[in-house]
Formats: sequence, structure tokens, C-alpha cells
Amino acid sequence: MRESLMDIIVCPVCKGTLELSIKEKEKDEIVSGSLFCSRCNFNYPIKDSIPNLLPPEMQS
Ligand SMILES: [Zn+2]
Repeated sequence: MRESLMDIIVCPVCKGTLELSIKEKEKDEIVSGSLFCSRCNFNYPIKDSIPNLLPPEMQS
């Protein structure tokens, strides 16, 4: 995902802002990392450049 997506991505549960932490980055593309919601205390993973924003109960 592009870092600029952070402006529009919100937590799917509480619609709060997410905190980005980057593990791997290529140019302006975030390849892996996570998006953390402090209100829900949940980490949404970013894998293969795709953020997994499924609610916690739907994450496999
Ligand atoms: Zn949340």
C-alpha cells in the first residue's frame, strides 16, 4: 500500500485513526508492516503491500 493511503484508512471497527509501523518498504510502497488501532488495541497486518482491514473476529 502507499503511505498516502494513511490519510483515508481508518479502523474498520471504531473508525479511529491507525498508527502505521513499517517493516519493509519499497520506494513509496509499504510492503509489510502493521496498522495499529489504540482504541481497539488491535494490529491490522500489512502483507505483500496489502493491508488486511478485516475486523479482528474475521481475521484468520
Ligand atoms: Zn479501532
